Amino acid sequence: MRYDTIVVGGGPAGATAARGLAQAGARVLLLERRRLPRYKACGGCLSRRVAGLLDFDPADLVEDTITGLTFTYRGREPIEARIREPMAYTVWRDRFDQALCLRAVEAGAELHDGLTVRAVRQADNRVEVDVDGKMEAGDFLVGADGASGVVARDLFSTRRKARAVGLDADLPLAGAAPALKGRVVIELGRASGGYCWAFPKRDVASVGAMVGRAAARTASHCLETFLGAGGFGGGKLSRTHGALIPLHGGNSGPLYQGRALLTGDAAALVDPFLGEGIYYAILSGQLAARAILSAERNGGDLAWYQTAISTGITPELEAAGRLSRLAHRLPWLWFKALKRRPGAIDFYRKVLMGQESYRSFADRVWAEIPRPLGLLLGGWTDREQMGGERGAREKRRWQ
Ligand SMILES: Cc1cc2nc3c(=O)[nH]c(=O)nc-3n(C[C@H](O)[C@H](O)[C@H](O)COP(=O)(O)OP(=O)(O)OC[C@H]3O[C@@H](n4cnc5c(N)ncnc54)[C@H](O)[C@@H]3O)c2cc1C
Repeated sequence: MRYDTIVVGGGPAGATAARGLAQAGARVLLLERRRLPRYKACGGCLSRRVAGLLDFDPADLVEDTITGLTFTYRGREPIEARIREPMAYTVWRDRFDQALCLRAVEAGAELHDGLTVRAVRQADNRVEVDVDGKMEAGDFLVGADGASGVVARDLFSTRRKARAVGLDADLPLAGAAPALKGRVVIELGRASGGYCWAFPKRDVASVGAMVGRAAARTASHCLETFLGAGGFGGGKLSRTHGALIPLHGGNSGPLYQGRALLTGDAAALVDPFLGEGIYYAILSGQLAARAILSAERNGGDLAWYQTAISTGITPELEAAGRLSRLAHRLPWLWFKALKRRPGAIDFYRKVLMGQESYRSFADRVWAEIPRPLGLLLGGWTDREQMGGERGAREKRRWQ
């Protein structure tokens, strides 16, 4: 059987693309190499704006509702922020991703899990996929196979390697559970090029560290010292896994080639400031479905997808990159800034809730940075290019 679209990968990006296509009546094959539900190394923190992308109520999947943020610097001087409304939710990725895949199946997609795509190629306006030795063919191909996927490997030779790694583990909370309820902890100053975190679930916290790839070996030490600094009840870590985090790094090459396109982690659509990828995976999955549906009517041209990502997602990820240059390279300075200006923490909240953009957050921050420091961090040029000079001139005060 020839499919209209073959989707490789049953994470948020692939499941969303498959659902969008199947809803419009397309014959969709969704391939996932692991049996569902499958573990995925991830903190499972969904910013509230994710809920705005979903066409179902995820309440049954939610482990905790986040209304508090705690920032620490090397275990000292916590900064606490609480708000009345939810700014994020935590989920288990195995259940969340399975729910998304089942939504795709409900819409009519054919899901084959436990099967690995070994190779892909394009020929004569069709795509061919080797699924454990069996060839499947389709009109379009969605690469949603994560940070080291086969679709990017075989069809997108310019893709760059992931720039960061993350360590994910479960920590039983026991006595520490009430203190973490509804509150995420973000620890600065320990993880080179990133941060450590604790995201509460019912009686467990997902804890982890994101570090730049060059510092990959330090990740587990960072996590141990973060947890050792106190407040987590001293439980024993379980299910510790490392994984690549393909932070967006600008100029990462085309996102479509012929009749294939890349989404989510496969397209390096991960925010370099927080390491958030689920929101962009779902959004890019939706855009991929739209792009393919319109390409079916105009000779297979997927150029719209590149434009949609370049205008709708990339500027946000670039702005997150400007923030990360400051926060991750000079974490002490960033921490001091957060301490002095509660309005900056409010920006975290507003971005997570979809009420503010990273662009305005970054412009605000860079407007207050002395020019020599801006130059040192390489952000000044970006700021001028991105229109941040307006922010600099206005020198608006934090709310
Ligand atoms: C430690 C860590 C913590 C994180 N925490 C968060 C967080 O709290 N919040 C957040 O928003 N983001 C977080 N992220 C990022 C987030 O996990 C990813 O951005 C997100 O999973 C991307 O979704 P995706 O659908 O693009 O890819 P994935 O979720 O990686 O899904 C890809 C799927 O493709 C399948 N696959 C791969 N190769 C093949 C093949 N050859 N054949 C068939 N199937 C294949 C895989 O099995 C997988 O199921 C974290 C990442 C890490 C590493």
